[in-house]
Formats: sequence, structure tokens, C-alpha cells
Amino acid sequence: MPTLFEKIIAREIPADIVYEDDLCLAFNDIGPQAPVHILLIPKKPIPRVAAAESEDQALLGHLLLKVGEVAESAGIKESGFRVVINNGENGGETVPHMHIHLLGGRPLQWPPG
Ligand code: AMP
Repeated sequence: MPTLFEKIIAREIPADIVYEDDLCLAFNDIGPQAPVHILLIPKKPIPRVAAAESEDQALLGHLLLKVGEVAESAGIKESGFRVVINNGENGGETVPHMHIHLLGGRPLQWPPG
């Protein structure tokens, strides 16, 4: 059964898409936790980062490289931002399709809750 994010990739569910290429998609989070809250996801349905395999090495690198580009487009590259990957129950993962949260537009506290 396809996940919510697979449905967004397939355009079966609408999303506010801010970046797309052959390997990944970025869209605004529906419940933003900061003025800028973007989700960057691989098109390949990797359930979570800990489920990635060695064959995904280049894809994972691609995603991290795109973080700076997406942050720049969103106007938060200079001011700073945070990337978060929630993994599993204690990590707060709710959608089993790997995603990178890109948060910015305000000072972020540390440590997270
Ligand atoms: P996580 O809790 O790390 O699994 O993150 C899942 C994120 O997906 C949450 O921040 C949700 O607000 C977000 N989300 C859920 N449904 C949608 C949707 N239809 N469009 C955009 N973001 C969504």
C-alpha cells in the first residue's frame, strides 16, 4: 500500500512542491513548525534512513547536497537552518517514507524536545 508521500510523488495528493528532480521531491510541510518547514524526500520509497542500503549511498548524498540548494531558494541559507530526520517510534517518525525536515526562518532551540 503506497504511503502518503508516494501519493504526493504520484500527484494523487496535492502538495506545495518547491523542488523536484529525477531522484527527489521537496514540498512544504502541512503542519509547519517554523516559518520555513520543507520536507525533502527521495522518490525511491526508502521507509526510513536506517532502512537505507549501500546501493542508496549516492541517493543519500544527493539528498544532502540538495538541502543547501532548497534552503537557498527558501531564503534561509544565510540565516541558518536545521535538518532533522526522524527515525522510528521514539524518533517521532509518522510517515514511513524517509524524509528530511528542513526548518528555518527563526532561531531554533537546542536540544530538541
Ligand atoms: P515525521 O513525523 O518525521 O514522520 O514527519 C512527517 C511530516 O509530514 C509531519 O511534519 C507532517 O506535518 C507532514 N505531513 C503529513 N501529511 C502531509 C501532507 N499531506 N503534506 C505535507 N506534509 C505532510
